[in-house]
Amino acid sequence: MILLNPHSPDRYYPDERSRQIMLSTIQFFERKGKRRIKEDDRQRTWYGDFLELQKQERLFATLLTPAEYGFDADCRWDTWRNCEFNEILGFYGLAYWYTWQVSILGLGPVWMSPNEALKRRAAELLRDGHVFAFGLSERAHGADIYATEMSLATQPDGSYLANGEKYYIGNANLAPMVSTFGKISGTGEYVFFSADYRRPNYHLLQNVTASQNYVAQYALRDYPVSEADILSRGQEAWDAALNTVNVGKFNLGWASIGICTHAFYEAIRHAANRRLYNMYVTDFPHVRQMFSDAYARLAAMKLFTLRAADYMRSASPTDRRYLLYNPMVKMKVTTQGEEVINLLWDVIAAKGFEKDTYFEMAARDIRALPKLEGTVHVNIALIVKFMPNYFFNPAVYPPVPRRDDPQDDVFLWNQGPARGLGQIRFNDPGLAFEGFDLPNVSLFREQTTVFQEFLATATPDEAQRVDVDFLLALGELFALVVYAQLILENARIYQADVDDDLLDHIFDCLVRDFSRHALQLYSKPSSTPRQMELCQRMLRKPAFDGRRFARLWEQVHALKDAYELK
Ligand SMILES: Cc1cc2nc3c(=O)[nH]c(=O)nc-3n(C[C@H](O)[C@H](O)[C@H](O)COP(=O)(O)OP(=O)(O)OC[C@H]3O[C@@H](n4cnc5c(N)ncnc54)[C@H](O)[C@@H]3O)c2cc1C
Repeated sequence: MILLNPHSPDRYYPDERSRQIMLSTIQFFERKGKRRIKEDDRQRTWYGDFLELQKQERLFATLLTPAEYGFDADCRWDTWRNCEFNEILGFYGLAYWYTWQVSILGLGPVWMSPNEALKRRAAELLRDGHVFAFGLSERAHGADIYATEMSLATQPDGSYLANGEKYYIGNANLAPMVSTFGKISGTGEYVFFSADYRRPNYHLLQNVTASQNYVAQYALRDYPVSEADILSRGQEAWDAALNTVNVGKFNLGWASIGICTHAFYEAIRHAANRRLYNMYVTDFPHVRQMFSDAYARLAAMKLFTLRAADYMRSASPTDRRYLLYNPMVKMKVTTQGEEVINLLWDVIAAKGFEKDTYFEMAARDIRALPKLEGTVHVNIALIVKFMPNYFFNPAVYPPVPRRDDPQDDVFLWNQGPARGLGQIRFNDPGLAFEGFDLPNVSLFREQTTVFQEFLATATPDEAQRVDVDFLLALGELFALVVYAQLILENARIYQADVDDDLLDHIFDCLVRDFSRHALQLYSKPSSTPRQMELCQRMLRKPAFDGRRFARLWEQVHALKDAYELK
């Protein structure tokens, strides 16, 4: 089965230590149990117990220290195993995932830095069980990081005094290295430097959120910064900010997958055992449809994200395709996560409000992921830059296999300049569809062919190209094509877990989604008659096969007793 089941964790690892990390983390949460996890959530209890586990078991130290700086032989930044760790934390509670996630973000500018002494220091702190923080956002500026106000004033001795505030910064209450983004005053040169919450002029002002996390507002007031604290400057600092987010935003998809997987088990267990009108809730045809859709969408989220990880691990200066797939994980997978929870919630209804359910937490937390580290809009605006080359200027790359090898993913720290996205080329997307003879895959292919015709013959004009509202609608259609491509690529790799019934139902969902977004593009104020005609030609009804649906339902229903957190 493609979904994580902590009661039978069977993921392949090339080494024992990786497996042991996953097992000890699962064991910690299973022992803690649902009652205490929920109680801590309700009381907003600081997750000191989890941080103690990670320290004792050297979890972050093993997973987040590149081999070159590691104190143990098993330290490496291995995206294959980090994916599952992400998923497990999301499965048990987003708060636990968040402290890990912001540690990853905080370490990004460090591992990308030329400052060797600070890298050694980070490795020591990891070894000693510390967490990290990433101080990019400011209260007044949101996504507009050009407007950063944190400033470093040069002193006569060549050192600096930092002044400014940061807002929404996770772990900034206890991270000895808070990677902080600012500008050199006077020149406006960008700079990343490391701040320590224990030093006198670091002021922790408040926790901005009411949650188990500490999402800090902190101020630096005449905070001394020496050359030794500088991580990077100028273009390097700017690139470090964007390249760190490239790595970090990928994890949000895994958090969504973990949340949805747990919520799915809980929901189907409830519905399949609940009797109304002398029948089970899962006997209603619409309930079967909703569960089947939720399962297919969740399987698609996982197939896509696993495949995106293969590309990230195989990336190089000459293969930067991950720069399209990672924002897709962020915007598409996390919004699909919301859709999965909506479907499940419509089935379990009142149960989803109960304080003793995991679902109550999931319904709240799933909303966060599309909004953090760049909103969905920001990421769609980013991916449309890839569209011309994706469709009209293909290249040939060697095949990318499943990347479950114990590689240290050092390219992530040497991604190079963050610009030039429009120059990145892709394989002909049509290749992914070859060899699949399934009705809904074929229908989807027809839709994408019309979309390509739209782009070639009814190309958005200058006014439409600068109209973000129009672009977002166009971007949703583009995103679906890319989503389908990676799902198909991975359906081949995971064919033991993904049979034709499931794959065809995934594409049943995608055909419906494509029609919905085509209608939205049709409805935009500026769409031309020719564009509207093409949008109408993109509308398709999925192919329904009763026997196929019945077989899929058997697979879905069989999960009713698969997992329960006691
Ligand atoms: C719980 C939590 C934890 C966080 N943790 C951290 C952290 O550890 N470190 C950190 O640095 N930050 C952190 N953040 C900040 C987070 O990354 C920002 O919220 C995010 O970057 C978006 O900024 P904003 O929410 O202020 O939205 P705004 O930037 O104010 O956006 C407003 C609207 O404009 C749209 N918009 C903005 N720019 C564009 C664009 N270019 N194209 C299209 N639409 C656009 C947005 O989609 C949105 O609808 C955290 C936030 C929260 C809530």
